[in-house]
Amino acid sequence: MITYQLKCSSGHEFEAWFRNSAGYDEQRATGDISCPMCGDMEVMKALMAPSVGKKGNASVSTHEQRASEVAREVLDAVETIRKHVEDNCDYVGKEFADEARRIHYGETEERGIYGEATPEDNQALDEEGIEVFRIPTAPRRDS
Ligand SMILES: [Zn+2]
Repeated sequence: MITYQLKCSSGHEFEAWFRNSAGYDEQRATGDISCPMCGDMEVMKALMAPSVGKKGNASVSTHEQRASEVAREVLDAVETIRKHVEDNCDYVGKEFADEARRIHYGETEERGIYGEATPEDNQALDEEGIEVFRIPTAPRRDS
């Protein structure tokens, strides 16, 4: 979806949503777009400057903003989990699958561990009934 700032021949400005830019051309050609204030169908695209002066991000739609907020919340949640794991568990690197087995079979101290495991490791552990929690490997943010 895209939003256009439109303007009728009397100078009324209004916003309208379209599937895409072709949708705008189509609806304009069939006279489906009319000014909500005077009904004028002579509409054209106005310059995209509906919120000049608001921190200069007028081109970022609220939808895009919301999407990036959600993405940020998800990343924050992943980092919270990652940090909790790093603070409370032992890092065992590529030994992860072997160490998880030793813990499972009582051959070593029971504790939380984390490390790297291949998809094959994960599947093998799963088949042995060893619970593994996977953290998405999202790229770390610099901030
Ligand atoms: Zn009008």
